[in-house]
Amino acid sequence: MGRFFINCDDASILSTRAHYNDLNSKERFRHNLHKSHCLKCRDFHKKNARFQRGINKLKWVKLTIEEKDRIRQRLLQAMKK
Ligand SMILES: [Zn+2]
Repeated sequence: MGRFFINCDDASILSTRAHYNDLNSKERFRHNLHKSHCLKCRDFHKKNARFQRGINKLKWVKLTIEEKDRIRQRLLQAMKK
């Protein structure tokens, strides 16, 4: 992902990772840039946020560090495609 502008697929991955506080400053910048001109992804990110907040409120989903790591690895793999 050396590009400046990302596509919607990448944006959706960044959106999900953002909710795990897993973005570095460059990724956050790209994601914000994409959202600034893509209504669909802005909407997706908002819905995603609401969903994540809902999950956080319900304490029944607790991810272990191992599980978070697995999610991160899977997302990183998806981004390399
Ligand atoms: Zn988009």
